Amino acid sequence: MSLASRLELVRAEIAESAVSAGRSPDELTLIVVTKFHPASLVADLVALDVHDLGENRHQEAQQKAAELAGLDLRWHFVGQLQTKKARQVRRYASAIHSVDRDALVDALRSDEASVDVFLQVNLTDDPERGGVQPDALAPLVERALDAPGLRLRGLMAVAPLDEPARPAFARVRELRDRVVLPLAPEASDLSIGMSQDFHEAIAEGATHLRIGTAITGNRPVRG
Ligand SMILES: *Cc1c(COP(=O)(O)O)cnc(C)c1O
Repeated sequence: MSLASRLELVRAEIAESAVSAGRSPDELTLIVVTKFHPASLVADLVALDVHDLGENRHQEAQQKAAELAGLDLRWHFVGQLQTKKARQVRRYASAIHSVDRDALVDALRSDEASVDVFLQVNLTDDPERGGVQPDALAPLVERALDAPGLRLRGLMAVAPLDEPARPAFARVRELRDRVVLPLAPEASDLSIGMSQDFHEAIAEGATHLRIGTAITGNRPVRG
């Protein structure tokens, strides 16, 4: 199957899921995650009317952003981010989905144009997976709200490997309603849903889907 037909298929499935969840497909932003793939694939996607692209490593993202600087696209940084790289990511990214600690919020403070920020919640007990633990979310929301140059959009999460996605996403939605919205009524977005679980994410209120392999095909092996 070609890139264009995989994209068409996923777009159709998203629309179908949205309608069956009683939602409008217009509420959903599809971010195509292009990590490991060459800049040429990103250019092909832009030609197919994709304008939101996701990357999870700074060096690779920075390189592609430079190479494709003339194109009409927005970069979403979705991977774990070292504090010392934060300011550099800010330069090319429209949105950072993986903000999960005070030090990162502080490193992103700026008097320049705002960057969109999602706070990543860890749905497991494994700190290696990234994300703030739910019981530490409220102070992180407050810190992000106090930081100049950050526009808090909502929460991001990756479904755990060892439990069904839908109840895990329901927990994210519940955290948004109970912890985030009382402090930040505008920060209602949910960046949840990947190739394997975007239907479940849409049913639980996703606004941003981060989809890689279902559209790009398998990722090339990277050394
Ligand atoms: C790679 C990645 C995705 C996309 O994963 P697929 O399974 O290929 O759809 C989404 N979110 C994050 C944080 C990722 O690292």
